[in-house]
Amino acid sequence: MRAIERLAETAERCDRYRAAALSVGFVPTLGALHDGHVSLFRRAKSECDRVAVSIFVNPTQFGPGEDLAAYPRPREADLAACREAGVDLVFLGAAGEMYPAGFQTWVTVDELSRPLCGASRPVHFRGVATVVTQLLSIVRPHRAYFGQKDYQQSLVVRRLALDLHLGAEIRVLPTVREADGLAMSSRNRYLDAGARRVAPRIARALAGARELILGGEEHVEAVVARLRSDLEREGGLRIDYAEVLEAATLRAFEGGLLRRGPGGIVVAVAAHVGGARLIDNVVIAPGPG
Ligand code: AMP
Repeated sequence: MRAIERLAETAERCDRYRAAALSVGFVPTLGALHDGHVSLFRRAKSECDRVAVSIFVNPTQFGPGEDLAAYPRPREADLAACREAGVDLVFLGAAGEMYPAGFQTWVTVDELSRPLCGASRPVHFRGVATVVTQLLSIVRPHRAYFGQKDYQQSLVVRRLALDLHLGAEIRVLPTVREADGLAMSSRNRYLDAGARRVAPRIARALAGARELILGGEEHVEAVVARLRSDLEREGGLRIDYAEVLEAATLRAFEGGLLRRGPGGIVVAVAAHVGGARLIDNVVIAPGPG
């Protein structure tokens, strides 16, 4: 495995893979790797000849007052996890090279970036879309792998890859969870013992909402009310958002009525637990129409 700090060297090595007719799978990450990330590495490994991973705490996707400085950066453990998963190349991006003096080109994905995390983190998706565009342009993978845990991000990335003709197939894989249902996240490291006990309530509340919908509930308001009461019942958690939207577009359901038509339903939550802001979601597949 090669760990490379320079952007040009990363691009060159990936060029060489392609020139040798080797397919390239790519997984962008912020590091602080866990089994959720590793599931993406392994899938990439099983589908591609070479696997490239980037580890870059992208400053432009953090807003003022967010956890950019505190974000964990366990470089040696991260490299070991990559090596163990059979990753071929790790690009350790540096802000100075990704955003050199004079940088002024941004990628924004309009409508998909507005609701949910976009509403509470106004610059977040502009930063994500810009860095993912940069990374896909450097690595030029055949396939790039993302997690459903960051559902809105996966839609934003799919859209930009299509709209900018970047040529990578975007694959979105299921959320990997702890035994008690908590979605794995680098930010779970911020949870103390008390907060760690509260955090799985998010996954439980989402499962409850899913059951309600599958049981035939048709009113968005009823699902949201149940979700909010399940989340808030025992305290220790502050809701940022709890919403039920059209899964493909992130638009609200017309008239507040859930139609299990084309596109499906996403139930999405962001909540503050202890010092962490956690997100999770469930997607309910499209019904017969
Ligand atoms: P991050 O390092 O948080 O930016 O995540 C890098 C990639 O890993 C993103 O595509 C995430 O959606 C994905 N990811 C993060 N947590 C999980 C998880 N628990 N299960 C599956 N994928 C995940």
